Amino acid sequence: MTATTDKETLVVAVRALCDFTAKRGDLDLRFTPSPSAIEGMLGHRLVAMRRPAHYEREVSLSGDYKDLRVRGRADGYDALAGQLEEVKTYCARLESMRENHRQLHWAQVKIYGHLLCKRDGLTQIKLALVYFNIVTQDETLLVESHSAEELRLYFESQCESYLSWGRQELAHRALRNQGLSVLSFPHAAFRPGQRELAEAVYKSASSGRCLMLQAPTGIGKTVGTIFPLLKACAKQSLDKVFFLAAKTPGRQLALDALALIKHAAPALPLRVLELVSKVKACEYPDKACHGDSCPLAQGFYDRLPAARVAAIDAAALHHGLLDKNATRAVALAHSICPYYLSQDLLHWSDVVVGDYNYYFDVNAMLYAQAQANQWRVSVLVDEAHNLVERARKMYSAELDPADLATARKAAPPAIRRVLDRLRRSWLKLHQDQSENYQVYEKVPPDFCVALQQTSSAILEYLTEQPLELAPSVQGFFFAALHFSRMADVLGAHSLFDITLAQDHGQGGAVLCLRNVIPAPFLTPRFAAAHSVALFSATLGPANYYRDLLGVPEDTAWLDVDSPFSAEQLSVRLVNDVSTRFQHRSDSLLPITDLMARQYAQAPGNYLCFVSSFDYLAQLLELFRARYPDIPAWGQSRGMEESAKKGFLDRFTPQSSGIGFAVLGGAFAEGIDLPGKRLIGAFIATLGLPQINPVNEQIRLRMEASFGRGYNYTYLYPGLQKVVQAAGRVIRNESDRGVIYLIDDRYMDAQVRRLFPSWWHPQVFRARRRVESEASAGRCLD
Ligand code: SF4
Repeated sequence: MTATTDKETLVVAVRALCDFTAKRGDLDLRFTPSPSAIEGMLGHRLVAMRRPAHYEREVSLSGDYKDLRVRGRADGYDALAGQLEEVKTYCARLESMRENHRQLHWAQVKIYGHLLCKRDGLTQIKLALVYFNIVTQDETLLVESHSAEELRLYFESQCESYLSWGRQELAHRALRNQGLSVLSFPHAAFRPGQRELAEAVYKSASSGRCLMLQAPTGIGKTVGTIFPLLKACAKQSLDKVFFLAAKTPGRQLALDALALIKHAAPALPLRVLELVSKVKACEYPDKACHGDSCPLAQGFYDRLPAARVAAIDAAALHHGLLDKNATRAVALAHSICPYYLSQDLLHWSDVVVGDYNYYFDVNAMLYAQAQANQWRVSVLVDEAHNLVERARKMYSAELDPADLATARKAAPPAIRRVLDRLRRSWLKLHQDQSENYQVYEKVPPDFCVALQQTSSAILEYLTEQPLELAPSVQGFFFAALHFSRMADVLGAHSLFDITLAQDHGQGGAVLCLRNVIPAPFLTPRFAAAHSVALFSATLGPANYYRDLLGVPEDTAWLDVDSPFSAEQLSVRLVNDVSTRFQHRSDSLLPITDLMARQYAQAPGNYLCFVSSFDYLAQLLELFRARYPDIPAWGQSRGMEESAKKGFLDRFTPQSSGIGFAVLGGAFAEGIDLPGKRLIGAFIATLGLPQINPVNEQIRLRMEASFGRGYNYTYLYPGLQKVVQAAGRVIRNESDRGVIYLIDDRYMDAQVRRLFPSWWHPQVFRARRRVESEASAGRCLD
């Protein structure tokens, strides 16, 4: 919706113009979920295929009013019939569509109608809204006839409503770009490596290429990537910068960096918006998102314009930052929903900070809006090594028989019948399965049909009585919908597997569409952005991430040298202990003694990482029994935020002790314990994923796709976690510390090649061979 400059003209997309001028009344999501982007595209294509050969598809149109240029692409025009069409896909009952939604659709087609009349010199035209049901593939046409004069007047009235806001936005853009082009780095100097990193990000934005960037912790990656992208905004005519993080702390670091930049340039009119999930932003979790249920949805669009102005004023007061608290305050002051206010505000923001899923998920809002509004965006992906696992989850789908049973119990009779039919079809899928876990080539079409019928029936019910359907039924509905969508696009990137549930005697089996190679889904997301910079302290081997993420061929790669030296970190490879599952009990004693000896030599704070909570419990118990005087504390399963904080609060500059944690868990990355807060780590695992039937299937798929099954499934993901965890110890150039990598497999050359190049590991023995303390625990080189 953002106004953009095009040779000094104010430009707005048709859809954006109508969203701004023609949305009225309540927020109402009863006609959703709407079809996914893929379904929408297929629906449009199907409608176009049904039209005659002379039918003009995707008609590019534009027209001016005063200093405003309106442009867009109408779906199709049949010149012989004199009919312009706008196609809308849907999957609920058409009668349930709210009047204000319908009005918005008419507004769009009327604008296109005017632009076409102008282009072809027409005096009269038929306008058609084509509603296409993606389930039944039926079309419903609503047709109106309009004179060119009527449409001209309508067009001008809409443009007039938008003009002053658009001009103000254009002025904001000019001031913003002016300010950004003279922006100075917010620190007195770049840290070692930081300038190299910043230059690479600037170049990638200038050349419109993607960049993969491996840079050690502590060089200031967040500000070092945001700053150059802001500098590139004016020259590259960027509409927006998206900063995407895997976790909340990453978002906070970005907001802090932006606050720092704003603090150094107080006159810079840069608007920064934080996006939070609906669950976190919702004020009425027990209500549904429509005016009959939620007071903050009632009259939402009527009060939105005033809230929008207030939010932008508030942003100016808060140094341009609209974090979740600022947005909430404005929303509540205007009695509208904070979550949906933030969705509107993203149109008027320059930098958007949010989770990965806003750009990479199946129904990613930032991606969809950027596409719909033709925004030119550059994207920063923080801690990008997380994107592989996160994207796999986004593009996987699971159906659990226990959820079906719970939903069935709570469902009204009409839905229960459909669920029973689905259950019968489900049982057929695995009636001949003898193995507990099995992979199948495809999801049988009969089951897909049964699932779609279930979704349609629940959706119909939901549309009419959204509050009467139990959460378990709604939850199952969303899972079914997602499963259907992913089943439609099943390919070599995913496995379809069935795991017989423990109560298989009663006929249960978990169905999973398990994405293992997210690349085919992510590639279009990278292509849609002007530039993308993916950065992390552990983004190697580069080929592994290139293959799995599907970045473009010409993606640049930069490995920034570490500012840290080998003298700062003693890396010890303990080669006389095995942490393999069958040797675990044997490993407990030497590891506890090794930790105690290190602690005796250099008292202070340490972290010990192991592969599982069971192993952790055994090690911690033995350690406490043998060394009761050394403070020791452990991570537990499903720790609350306050407990996590308690765990970390024990690491102070004055304290000493050993915290036991699980590798790959909450304390293995993204935590910052500089100086005396952490002086060493014991990593008693290679982090390799467990060998089990699922991982073995993934290995086979990786082997078939890339010829590196073991490395891509086990070795690289494992070592990535190890290096991340080890990275907790040295946080700045004055830190000193020690890392013990405990397992004989660390001696393997292939494993050692994955260590950061600045490490100089030494071989070390944990077990005492002779009585003297001097010969025990000695580095062997
Ligand atoms: S407050 Fe919650 S229920 Fe109400 S509209 Fe917002 S998200 Fe929906």
